[in-house]
Amino acid sequence: MTPLGHDFEKSAVQALGNQQLRGNFRRVMTGLVAKRAAQFPDPVELAALRARGAAIRERALAKLPELLVQLEHSLTANGITVHWAQSVEEGNRIILDILKKAGARTIIKGKSMVSEEMHFNHFLDENGIRAIESDLGEYIIQLAGETPSHIVMPAIHKNRDDIGKLFQQKMEAQPYTEDPEELTAAARRVLRQLFADADAGFSGVNFAAADTGSLVLISNEGNGRMSTHLPSLHIALMGIEKVIERLEDAAPLITLACRSATGQPITTYVNIISGPRKPGEKDGPQAVHLVLLDNGRTRIYADPELREGLRCIRCAACLNHCPVYTRIGGHAYIYTYPGPIGEVLNPQMQGIDCAGDVLHASSLCGRCSEVCPVRIPLAELIVRLRRESIRPSGNAVKGGGSRRSGIEALVWFAWSLMYSSPLLYRWGTWWLRRVGNLLPAGVPLLKQWTSVRSRPRFAPRSIYDLAREKGISHE
Ligand code: SF4
Repeated sequence: MTPLGHDFEKSAVQALGNQQLRGNFRRVMTGLVAKRAAQFPDPVELAALRARGAAIRERALAKLPELLVQLEHSLTANGITVHWAQSVEEGNRIILDILKKAGARTIIKGKSMVSEEMHFNHFLDENGIRAIESDLGEYIIQLAGETPSHIVMPAIHKNRDDIGKLFQQKMEAQPYTEDPEELTAAARRVLRQLFADADAGFSGVNFAAADTGSLVLISNEGNGRMSTHLPSLHIALMGIEKVIERLEDAAPLITLACRSATGQPITTYVNIISGPRKPGEKDGPQAVHLVLLDNGRTRIYADPELREGLRCIRCAACLNHCPVYTRIGGHAYIYTYPGPIGEVLNPQMQGIDCAGDVLHASSLCGRCSEVCPVRIPLAELIVRLRRESIRPSGNAVKGGGSRRSGIEALVWFAWSLMYSSPLLYRWGTWWLRRVGNLLPAGVPLLKQWTSVRSRPRFAPRSIYDLAREKGISHE
């Protein structure tokens, strides 16, 4: 696997130079931030809602092993077949087997970030099965041959003009238009037929209730219902952390997710799937399967601090408010999850040796932690992972310690010596004042820092000298 470092830096620099991309992101993110703020006018209510959301997720995680067993029992009792996948490879293989047994050649998909984690479409394609995205944003990026740039609005980096040109180029007899309604109608026309023809439907899962064995899906488009109800086979995919204790817990989480994500009180559709079609029912699939994917989540779960990241309900508020994400966009992060939650998840799922560079895509301003509806301390987790990347605590994170640099360790050791001894400090600063400004701008150790910032100039006289001159004691 290619180490991310070089590519991430390169893609971030490229994104920063793309004025259109930056304009698109700035416009949309400003709107989303304002919409979210309008949904939470009362800070007391917001604090109470966040506390409730965090408590629900915390309680579910505290009981995760038992709840997963309970979920399997409830789902099985409802007629849903449950599969467990330790890795991405296993998850893909399980789904391929289900599709092969059903003789499926095409699959119509609802939105699923976990399937992005598995590079699922690509895998199916290699195995002769066509996966068609039916969420409008996902459909657009599939036509463009891209990956999602946002976890809720995958095609957010594209404006109407981009989409108009894309549709004109990729759809038969489609004239150019940038009218959103006409564009939506064009996608609808194509997708309607594909829904009818698909051999299987596929979806992600927002929450799975252990008590009732129900899969809860929220969506703003009818595609969620069409892809889970029209084909005779429905395969759902979720990360193991998405389980909740009771179906009633879903309501506060849904309101938090919708208000935080798109500034809506609730999404247009809330689907609760509790099994395949029963005798006498007129619609619904004949068979429903749920694949529960681990892919590093158990390891994250084992660490009480890092486990907090598993509370995530994928609302993307942390992305929308992040000063780094809103400037470089989602593609610059390269791995599945962009933004602050991506900085927490990707290095743990892929390994710090591979994806550890995204840990520096944060100013640690803490805005992400402030807006997270389930109170995940994202900035603290990023700091913890930065520490793991150079000084691992046991085996907590894959690839921990791989980013340790001997030179950097030496510099910090010298720094700590200097700052813990007044004598060394004065001696060191005396030298820096004399030679610091003479150092060339491209000194290898400082190059990355000074390439994007002005180098600070050392003052010729220290504040201690000035204080001493004025007769002020500083001891
Ligand atoms: S970390 Fe919090 S703010 Fe970010 S996507 Fe998850 S729930 Fe939303």
